[in-house]
Amino acid sequence: MSSVDRQMMSRALQLAAKGRFTSSPNPSVGCVIAIADQVVAEGYTRPAGGNHAEIEALQAGADVTGGTAYVSLEPCSHQGKTGPCADALIAAGISRVVIACEDPNPEVAGAGIEKLKQAGVEVQVGLLDDQARESNKGFIKRYEQGTPWVTVKMAASLDGRTAMASGQSQWITTPASRADVQRLRAASCAIITGIGTQLMDDPSLTVRITNTDVGVEDQLRQPLRVVVDGQLQMSPQARLLQQPGDTLIATLDGAEQRDKASALIAAGAEVVFLSALGQHIDLQALLLTLAERGCNQVLVEAGAGLAGGFIAEGLLDELVCYWAPKLFGHTARPMFDLPIETIDAHLALSVEDIRQIGEDIRVTLRPDKDY
Ligand SMILES: [Zn+2]
Repeated sequence: MSSVDRQMMSRALQLAAKGRFTSSPNPSVGCVIAIADQVVAEGYTRPAGGNHAEIEALQAGADVTGGTAYVSLEPCSHQGKTGPCADALIAAGISRVVIACEDPNPEVAGAGIEKLKQAGVEVQVGLLDDQARESNKGFIKRYEQGTPWVTVKMAASLDGRTAMASGQSQWITTPASRADVQRLRAASCAIITGIGTQLMDDPSLTVRITNTDVGVEDQLRQPLRVVVDGQLQMSPQARLLQQPGDTLIATLDGAEQRDKASALIAAGAEVVFLSALGQHIDLQALLLTLAERGCNQVLVEAGAGLAGGFIAEGLLDELVCYWAPKLFGHTARPMFDLPIETIDAHLALSVEDIRQIGEDIRVTLRPDKDY
């Protein structure tokens, strides 16, 4: 494939990034249509129920007969709320389609490519495949593994402490970091916290920035708020139940929990009863439940116990740490409750990104595969 092809696909990936806050449960896809190396139309996935990227580009009104379409994910072949995009590309007279990566959705999974080929369209697959997979890491993981992409966010002092021994913890980092966390929230389908954090901080867990703050056209949504609360200790007066958007409380299945649930349901929460793993909620079961609801990406904003639980159970995909240039001392609380006994059992991470945000340092890390 030529350098023009790479350039066009890079543009399609830039467009895909515009839908990343709003496309879920759909993947965020970008589409560029070119004729004789000139872009004639482009589009990206609009919020669920709206147009897919290819339809957006085709509806721009240009004559695309004989053109090449560059799409960051395989065009769909099934009749969902819209589409199928493969049919629309064929009908518009597109003669060549360059695809970055195949759609893992079993309803598509190669069928879009097959449809195009059968209609005589030239198809090439794999250009900038890695970047395309990265741009839809949550969607792809949900289809390939049945669980969402899990990002654990943690704010800590330089000595790795998140709260004083008393539990006092607010405002470790600066406003710049907190604004950055808002972007993480906005890109997430769900925010997961634990009952300890809920009782201590009574957080809202809402997105308080708007689409213009992140430079996209479509309105941002409130991610689903999830509270992991095994004994169902949460109060129906909790602040997060009074916020726009939905709240789901995950608890253990027991008579006591069944009794307490009705007051929380009356306060607007949804309560799900999950199986136990040891003394705690099976977090893998929680993730499966969230994937069934179309959550591609979840953000864990919790204390040492729950954050450590996700890591200890091998469920971590990405860790985002905000380090404040402060020392809290050795009696303050650690970042994670993690039962690591020997040096050989340490968890190795790779640094994906490191940057200064205001006074703080943000480090994005991923665990080595299959940790
Ligand atoms: Zn489509």
